[in-house]
Amino acid sequence: MNEFDENESFRDRVSTIAEDGKRLWVYPKRPAGRLFKYRNLVAYLLLIIFFATPFIKLNGDPVMLFDFLQRRFIIFGVVFFPQDFHIFVLSMITFIVFVVLFTVIFGRLFCGWICPQTIFMEFIFRQLEYLIEGNNSKQRKLDERTMDFDKLWRKSLKHLVFYLISLVTVYFFLAYVIGMDRVRGLIESGPAANWAGFVGMLIFAGVHYLVFAKLREQVCIIVCPYGRLQGVLLDRNSINVSYDYKRGEPRAKYNPLENRHEAEKGDCIDCNSCVVVCPTGIDIRNGTQLECINCTACIDACDNVMERVHKPKGLIRYASERSIAEGTKLKFNIRILFYSVVLSGLLILIGYLFSIRTDIESTILRMPGSMYQEYDSLHYSNIYTIQLINKTRKDLPVELLIDDAEGEIKMMGGPLIVSKGDVGKATFLLVVEKSKLKSSMTGIEFKVMCEGREMDEIEATFVGPNTLDTGSEPDND
Ligand code: SF4
Ligand code: SF4
Repeated sequence: MNEFDENESFRDRVSTIAEDGKRLWVYPKRPAGRLFKYRNLVAYLLLIIFFATPFIKLNGDPVMLFDFLQRRFIIFGVVFFPQDFHIFVLSMITFIVFVVLFTVIFGRLFCGWICPQTIFMEFIFRQLEYLIEGNNSKQRKLDERTMDFDKLWRKSLKHLVFYLISLVTVYFFLAYVIGMDRVRGLIESGPAANWAGFVGMLIFAGVHYLVFAKLREQVCIIVCPYGRLQGVLLDRNSINVSYDYKRGEPRAKYNPLENRHEAEKGDCIDCNSCVVVCPTGIDIRNGTQLECINCTACIDACDNVMERVHKPKGLIRYASERSIAEGTKLKFNIRILFYSVVLSGLLILIGYLFSIRTDIESTILRMPGSMYQEYDSLHYSNIYTIQLINKTRKDLPVELLIDDAEGEIKMMGGPLIVSKGDVGKATFLLVVEKSKLKSSMTGIEFKVMCEGREMDEIEATFVGPNTLDTGSEPDND
């Protein structure tokens, strides 16, 4: 292998897979530095939000709920039903376009700072691992050692704690799906009362445990579709964690005895500090790579080194490839402009759909299989069912009106009250004077009223005898 092949060999395979195809376990050194402190703040704030939200209620309902089984969704206190699916789909599309646009400009900032996988891995599981097994070199030695009492208790404790945390996390995930009250009920009633749910929770906890105890960075490298998309989303203007090769190369070892670094050499002292902290096991000096989750650990590590050798910080920093190569600033290119226009259009559309979203959604259908009835000698009647979805957080008394001149509504079963966030159904007769019907199908406009306010308008048809079209005597069935 010549020198070039050796330098470029990182391109031949993923950093965590050896030449023989085996997994290379990554032992990243515990990060320390300015950005790590900020990331700690962001991560623990997001974790507090995640674990606290299921306890927050608004008018007796959870503030966030994604109940796929009962097709009921509450987002920031607003109740959504399957009928609002178009808003949900558009919101998701907007979110995806936003992520794409954001990535084009800011690279994988999301992965390093906000992604749940990174937050759980780096700020919960990895921190506990450091606590139980020690820093990277101690972990490596522990793994290489044959089993003894010290290794046994450390490994057992770590995996037990990992599984318990997974169980608690799944408990909270479930609270987002069925609500905290029902999850509490499941736990309090014990496994015997709901063994299927209980086994389901244990299995999900097991999957969660495997992701963080075993899979780890493989999720970002192999499983995550967002990570795989980076190749098409990033361009030379995207901001990423980047090594300033113009300043750093040619790299050369620092001479601590003489406390000097040769003048003609670059600023990189080839200390490997940026490599040993990397949770995906790459060397950022090789350029932007698919494995890099922009966690900034290498920025902190290199800044600490630069401080010690009295050189300016920022040899590894947030920068675009172009800015490093040419010393230019971020350029607003056609791609960013196009994504911005699409995103703005979608945001306007979502705003419009929210603005026309009614508190009550109603459907009126003539009773299936029914025709007209002879109500009395002067009137015909049709029988209808009305279905109402109350999207508000209070019970709503509903009244149905039509123009007096058109006919009279006779509700069956008394006044109609639809419970909050629920679906109400009722049956009613519409009685119309025979003399007012001019054909066998007459259009009728119903008004759905609530507390004196018109909530919805629905059109339906009133069926009369066919003879109204032909002029012969009626002959009802
Ligand atoms: S930490 Fe900085 S100086 Fe050390 S090898 Fe990495 S880039 Fe070079
Ligand atoms: S290269 Fe740097 S930013 Fe990228 S994953 Fe490794 S440590 Fe994090």
